[in-house]
Amino acid sequence: MNTKLKAVAAIAGAVMALSSGFAHADAKNPKIGFSIDDLRVERWTRDRDFFNAEAEKLGAKVFVQSADASEQRQIAQIENLISRGVDVLVIVPYNATVLNNAIREAKKAKIKVVSYDRLILNSDIDAYISFDNVKVGELQADAVTKLKPKGNYYLLGGAPTDNNAKMLREGQMKVLQPLVDKGDIKIVGKQWVKDWSAAEAMTIVENALTANGNKIDAIVASNDGTAGGAIQALTAQKLGGKVPVSGQDADLAAVKRVISGTQAMTVYKPLKLIASEAAKLAVQLVRNEKPAYNAVYENGMKKVDTILLKPIPLTKANVNVLVDDGFYTKAQLSTN
Ligand code: BGC
Repeated sequence: MNTKLKAVAAIAGAVMALSSGFAHADAKNPKIGFSIDDLRVERWTRDRDFFNAEAEKLGAKVFVQSADASEQRQIAQIENLISRGVDVLVIVPYNATVLNNAIREAKKAKIKVVSYDRLILNSDIDAYISFDNVKVGELQADAVTKLKPKGNYYLLGGAPTDNNAKMLREGQMKVLQPLVDKGDIKIVGKQWVKDWSAAEAMTIVENALTANGNKIDAIVASNDGTAGGAIQALTAQKLGGKVPVSGQDADLAAVKRVISGTQAMTVYKPLKLIASEAAKLAVQLVRNEKPAYNAVYENGMKKVDTILLKPIPLTKANVNVLVDDGFYTKAQLSTN
């Protein structure tokens, strides 16, 4: 390209950046880009619906994208939302560590960034909102150790790309380590489950059962999807309901397993609460209002202002909480 052409191209580029790349915050009717790791997973569709409903009430317009567990796709979708001129991005990251450049682009365009449920690491994000994931891990291990205070334990972790998986493990070990030290329980194996995949969890537990001659007394699974895979493997060995398995999310299938006794517990995280609080938070950031933060998390680059919500442990004894809260109807929970 000759110098003159280069100059023309540079000016054209600058004009395009000005017209599309830079957000002009519209405080009255903000545009929100909601980039979700994976809408193929039950809980996230509920997050989206609750989020959209609240955002609409607040006068905002939401553009939703699902990356379907692909980091490339998520980066491209975030770039696309930036060029559409959103005022704020709300992101459920697939991979906590790869969004640095995309977020730098967003910040250059004066777009606020909220990390939703999962913390984005090493990036200049404005806020984080989640349930207390360390607490979720504690609740999981606590329920399982109450049922099996002694024996061989297997730990089924979440996706290695998800910072929550590590926080959950931290909480689980708070409860388990003292029992390991006492010699009451033995951790016979542990593995992270890629993409939180139920199928992968099933294979891992099948192999663990084989390797231990079926002598596994309890499984601390980090969510309901992976718990489902573990329970399938246990059931194939006639161990379903005999080996306590934990979970989280109160997925419909999991709640039914809790009622029928094959899953010991799940953790209910009121999704309507996180989704509506996140929608409020996003709109407040655009309007330069002060959100009600109650915690701070270090993400490797900065201390991130955080809204932390409280998870609720669920067993057969209190599943009615889900009906009282409008999360499910009584009919949905009937196992007939
Ligand atoms: C969420 C869980 C969810 C899992 C898989 C985690 O980051 O906190 O609620 O089950 O991702 O989608």
